[in-house]
Amino acid sequence: MDIGKAFREIMDLIFPPACEACGAVGELGLCSACMQQVTLVEEPYCAQCGQPFDPNVSTPPQLCASCRSDAPHLDGARAVGLHTGPLRHAIISCKFKGRTSVAPFLARLVAERMVAEAEYSWPLPLVEVDALVPVPLHPQRRRWRGFDQAALIVQGLAPAVGKPAWEDCIQRHKPTLPQIGLSPQQRRDNVKNAFVIPDEGLVRGKRLLLVDDVYTTGATGNDAARALKAAGAGEVYLLTVTRAAPDWHPASQITEPPEVPAGNASCSR
Ligand SMILES: [Zn+2]
Ligand SMILES: [Zn+2]
Repeated sequence: MDIGKAFREIMDLIFPPACEACGAVGELGLCSACMQQVTLVEEPYCAQCGQPFDPNVSTPPQLCASCRSDAPHLDGARAVGLHTGPLRHAIISCKFKGRTSVAPFLARLVAERMVAEAEYSWPLPLVEVDALVPVPLHPQRRRWRGFDQAALIVQGLAPAVGKPAWEDCIQRHKPTLPQIGLSPQQRRDNVKNAFVIPDEGLVRGKRLLLVDDVYTTGATGNDAARALKAAGAGEVYLLTVTRAAPDWHPASQITEPPEVPAGNASCSR
């Protein structure tokens, strides 16, 4: 019996579903009023990493400065919304407060967008995806937290889009520091060579869609893609629920409470 799962189910009974942002009772995930405040990532954005461009700029470039200067291992990345406001609250609830019942809501959000964009490259046509792969936590952190939020999202997403979930095809063998508070270079160094592929034959030649909760600098997704491609994967893309707001966006100016509870830094991803 999975004690952690049973405990979470009991907690869900004691604390019935309520909007993770405003507390409206009876809502799983976010209520319709809070959903209206979610900032979706929409074009124009970088064709490679999906970073949104300022729509007021008359001719946005095809690629962002980062993708122009340093070709990423990922073949493409996309996110549903900006990591701000109600959607950020929902992710924090799932990840740091153990409200795992939020994961199916997050999965549904991603699935709706994937299906709506199925014909287009978001980040690749749905029909071309061989498998969904959650970006894994280190086993130590997974044990500490009791669950892996990316795996929970994939468990909801895979049946909704009719694709297999390959949860163990990539593993994190190097315990990494929490990424929060690190510079982009420190983030890259922190996750470098963090992943191993236990069965190279499984991934060889495949088109894989990595799934994670948040895209900050792309360092984690890129290192996972590097490992998968070194093992022979054909193409590797990344889909996240949110991504950090770019500097030009008004949302980046909002001062929100830190994501890591004080004195508990080890619970960051
Ligand atoms: Zn609400
Ligand atoms: Zn880019």
